[in-house]
Amino acid sequence: MYIYNSLTKKVEEFVPHTPGKVAMYTCGPTVYHFAHIGNLRSYIMEDVLEKTLRYNGFDVKRVMNITDVGHLSSDADSGEDKMLKGAKREHKSVMEIAKYYTDAFMSDCAKLNIKTPDVVEPATNCIPEFIHMIEVLLEKGYAYKAGENIYFDTSKLESYYVFGNQSSDDLKIGVRDDVTEDTNKRNKNDFVLWFTKSKFEDQALKWDSPWGVGYPGWHIECSCIGMKHLGEYMDIHCGGVDNMFPHHTNEIAQSEAFSGHKWCKYWFHVHHLNDESGKMSKSKGEFLTVSLLEEKGYDPIAYRFFALLSHYRKPLTFSYDALDQATATYKKLKNKVLSIPEEGEVDESKVEEWHKNFAETVGNDVNTSMGITLLYDVLKSDLNGNTKRAIIDDFDYVLSLDLLKADEASEGGEEDELTAYVEAKIEERKQAKKAKDFEKADAIRNELLSKGIVIEDTREGVKWKRQ
Ligand SMILES: [Zn+2]
Repeated sequence: MYIYNSLTKKVEEFVPHTPGKVAMYTCGPTVYHFAHIGNLRSYIMEDVLEKTLRYNGFDVKRVMNITDVGHLSSDADSGEDKMLKGAKREHKSVMEIAKYYTDAFMSDCAKLNIKTPDVVEPATNCIPEFIHMIEVLLEKGYAYKAGENIYFDTSKLESYYVFGNQSSDDLKIGVRDDVTEDTNKRNKNDFVLWFTKSKFEDQALKWDSPWGVGYPGWHIECSCIGMKHLGEYMDIHCGGVDNMFPHHTNEIAQSEAFSGHKWCKYWFHVHHLNDESGKMSKSKGEFLTVSLLEEKGYDPIAYRFFALLSHYRKPLTFSYDALDQATATYKKLKNKVLSIPEEGEVDESKVEEWHKNFAETVGNDVNTSMGITLLYDVLKSDLNGNTKRAIIDDFDYVLSLDLLKADEASEGGEEDELTAYVEAKIEERKQAKKAKDFEKADAIRNELLSKGIVIEDTREGVKWKRQ
């Protein structure tokens, strides 16, 4: 398998630390609000990555954190506490907010066929681990106390900007009007490991620590939760591209300072989902969630399909027109798959051959659109029906588009079934005509007519409508 590594900026062969086993980590959501579909694009693509690894024979252990403490509204340790903001907005406690939005996130993931990681750990579960890592960082001289907070000293590192030149992002810190630069910091990129002097009087979650009562900074949690469940060596770490700096940069700084060796080999970053006006954000325009898409009549899996049509390393532009198009294509594809006749014996050697082909195709830096192209190749092939079904079922382990799952008898379901039936009959008639079996072709036309379906041969192909 090959993966683009943000650290080396190259597509590299994927070789895990322990042969055959993959230690995979995903930055989880900050559970103060619903996830918008832009965030969910990352989780969809990370899900495909995990399944592609498994499909290629790797034994994957995947860990995800849930940020329920410590994430301030600016990623650079400043601004309001996100959880507290959510709690105030909804007149609930921080823990109630965390529970509510964790459940909402998990339910969105389930609707999008995103597999739940093997371990999902809330940050508030791991306070002793955070304290231990901070103690070691202080002992080793990588951290210091100032103004009653504990900071990581970025000047102690040989190289801090491991992902390349982040200087433009860097400059934004302290320049924004609503953010005042923390004067306790020795270097402008130093970041908080532990807040003891909370600037929020009503900070609900506080713990005892060797430095006084307080709460952890945001970045420390991913290093600690990762090491707790995956050990000191991580193979692949995922997240949205906006996590690269400062979050992932800080994770690497503190993890490698702690362990004294390289921490994670491959970094997988999913690019933004934009709307037509630019980067999608919660602050402007409509807040796009899975529930909103459902209210508007979209199938969440059609959104997954939309995401899979483009490469994760390219920004994707969202519009309802684009989603409409993807939905139509998805429905057509699914109808085609569902109308494959259940005939013939499954040719296992063919299934194996296509499995290899698909593993290589999608295994080439998670090339989902090429994977879908391969799916159309299967449909077009002259394999028997049951072999086609077996191959598509195998591909769908990775794609997770429910291609062989007939829709429930919902409003759309019956309609889709009818379409599938008619399209199958039209195909059968086409084959009959090709074989010059005009009697059969006419019989099919009459059969459809008896069900109230009129077909018409046009220059663009066969069209059909209800009588
Ligand atoms: Zn993280």
